[in-house]
Amino acid sequence: MKDHCRGKMIMTTNTTPSIDLNQHDDQRHAFLDSIDTLIFDCDGVLWLDHHVIPGACEALAKFRSMGKKIKFVTNNSTMTRHQFLVKIQSFGIECSIDEIYGSAYGTALYLKSIQFNKKIFMIGEAGLENELRDAGYSPIKFNTDHTVSGISNAQNIEIERDIGAVIVGMDTSLTYSKCVYAHKAITQIPGCMFIATNTDHSYPVRDGTLPGAGSIVTMIQSSTSKAPIIVGKPETLLMDVIIKNEGLDRSRTLMVGDRLNTDILFGINSGTKTLLVLTGISNKQSIIEENIIPHFILNTIADLI
Ligand SMILES: [Mg+2]
Repeated sequence: MKDHCRGKMIMTTNTTPSIDLNQHDDQRHAFLDSIDTLIFDCDGVLWLDHHVIPGACEALAKFRSMGKKIKFVTNNSTMTRHQFLVKIQSFGIECSIDEIYGSAYGTALYLKSIQFNKKIFMIGEAGLENELRDAGYSPIKFNTDHTVSGISNAQNIEIERDIGAVIVGMDTSLTYSKCVYAHKAITQIPGCMFIATNTDHSYPVRDGTLPGAGSIVTMIQSSTSKAPIIVGKPETLLMDVIIKNEGLDRSRTLMVGDRLNTDILFGINSGTKTLLVLTGISNKQSIIEENIIPHFILNTIADLI
């Protein structure tokens, strides 16, 4: 596993112009022959809001019939893989639990890969907690009943002294007291790691956005002046975990996504091939504006078959 760039966007660039598969029918067959594994971002690729992208189920079934491996990735740390499995299947998409990699599960796999065996303090929700528990850890959470107000009370918050990692993910019950606990552990315990499940600053909802996990991470990063180890897209750690766990060949792996600065950058940074589909956030103009160039472009995943 690579040494991870703490808190820095790696920004490996692909300078080769994208191949627009919409205009090259003849290249799609050869393209699929060059791929063993397809890793999918979900929202904007397989479904949008509450509706499956037309033809997505059939496309995935076709890839399976061709012997391709399918994986699903999500930066969302609030859901366990089981919850995500239920969501994927609710769209009529065939899926099994071992095909799902979320940032919470990725965090747990990362900790196991480094033989981490100390105590964990977490800012996060049940999804993160359950994945850590399934991996054999018993994360400490700050009991919201113990939330205090006033600086003198905050400075008296006692922390356990043998914590080895603070993990920060999306937490809709975030309090100042939780942040004090995390801050104290990171700044007062020598060698305490700071791990972020993901750094999505906003969380997309029906009528706009809400603060995301990345906003919480930024707060702790700012107060402690310590950069986190980041698990989720577009950093490479989650892909490294998938590649290692599944024994994949990066050159024959395709990252499929709808967002350039997370999905496509994730693939480029990780050394896989990348396919931008135009059913979600980014469009062709975004490629010019963001200067993140996918290897391939296609209107919709259904068009690949
Ligand atoms: Mg997406």
